Amino acid sequence: KTLEMIESEKLNALTLLAAGVAHELGNPLNSLQIHTELLQRELAGKKTRAEVVDSLAAIRSELQRLDVIVNQFLRAIRPSPPKLAWAALNEIVRDAVEFLTPQMENRDVLIEMELAKGMPMVRADRDQLRQAFFNVMKNALEAMDRGGILEVRTELSDSHFLVVFRDNGSGMSATEMGRAFEPYFTTKQSGTGLGLLVVRRIVREHGGEIQLESREGKGTTVRILLPRSERRVRLLPMGSEQMVGDGK
Ligand code: ADP
Ligand code: MG
Repeated sequence: KTLEMIESEKLNALTLLAAGVAHELGNPLNSLQIHTELLQRELAGKKTRAEVVDSLAAIRSELQRLDVIVNQFLRAIRPSPPKLAWAALNEIVRDAVEFLTPQMENRDVLIEMELAKGMPMVRADRDQLRQAFFNVMKNALEAMDRGGILEVRTELSDSHFLVVFRDNGSGMSATEMGRAFEPYFTTKQSGTGLGLLVVRRIVREHGGEIQLESREGKGTTVRILLPRSERRVRLLPMGSEQMVGDGK
């Protein structure tokens, strides 16, 4: 099963869920309409208090139902928090590249990997990070219609792990770059406009950040920074969460 399939399955599930919710919302909304109309007539026609109270009770119970439906929906689409474990970042990068192989067919794209040596382990959700790297690289491939080179590099700084993806594809205009993380923003025929949104969510949930740099017609560089949490774990005195630094 490719990551692409998983990605689109998720999307289908979401579409189905949204359709289901819209359907469920229909009945209570209808009922609310009828009851407010009744209430209006009851008040205008000077009906008994009891009738008005009944209508209000019906309205309140329908509102409660709507509240439940909306809350369930929000819970369903809320992303799962990362399951953190010690992992080798270079391996996750390699896995992501491997997952990309099917997309490489019939493309004149070369991947150049340069993985830093002596990398310490990182606290990460392997599956989620692999998905994030995959989404970034897929964008790079799609930006290199007429072929090109995708550089994938890992680096280590005092405070961060760095994963850099550099392509020499179409690049982005300033406007496109400003909107790249917007949900549903896409410049592609069959794009979802959700790829980078997911990447940013995953990276942020790892305490990291993502940076874009792009020049139209030249290419794009995506940098993903992840905190070196291993220092935090080792140097942090017990129970002093708020004193977390990067260990320097
Ligand atoms: P999708 O790939 O489905 O369009 P994404 O969220 O992955 O959605 O990307 C949003 C948009 O950002 C893309 O449609 C494209 O315009 C732009 N983009 C992202 N990565 C690159 C890249 N490496 N090169 C050029 N444009 C990019
Ligand atoms: Mg994409």
